[in-house]
Amino acid sequence: MGKNDLCPGCKAPVNQTHHIKCCTCKLQYDIASAGITEATFNLLSKQQKSSWACLSCRNKVPRTNNTNTPVRQMFIIDSKAISPSDNVTKRTRERREKTNGGGGVLIAINKSINSRQFKNYESDCEDLWVGLEIVANRKKEQLLICAVYLPPPVLKG
Ligand SMILES: [Zn+2]
Ligand SMILES: [Zn+2]
Repeated sequence: MGKNDLCPGCKAPVNQTHHIKCCTCKLQYDIASAGITEATFNLLSKQQKSSWACLSCRNKVPRTNNTNTPVRQMFIIDSKAISPSDNVTKRTRERREKTNGGGGVLIAINKSINSRQFKNYESDCEDLWVGLEIVANRKKEQLLICAVYLPPPVLKG
């Protein structure tokens, strides 16, 4: 058995169907050692699986600030996988007539970044604007990000 048949996390042989490969070190982890639940694993797309990085590779990612907090990786499934350290700004869809309501747009920003919602930028579309305070060339700048939902059909301009 080659070295790659053992999970680097628990040193047990990797399950042939339930494993995930780190996109950086190419080692195969069983999903429990990867910190992924069975249910989550089944919901992951091919693309999400192929972009997964193991914890030790994530910890090697250079940080732009001085904290030693490991970079967490989250999968957004049904908008439920929001980290508790994120500031979540939402614009919930207004209930119209007898439709079931719900829906809307959401932006999650890590709390280590100063951010605030720009309500005055909102239009009649389902748009949400959040300004991030960033430092560029030693100057404080405001970076505006916008999430918008365009209901189908969306016609190309
Ligand atoms: Zn393992
Ligand atoms: Zn890795």
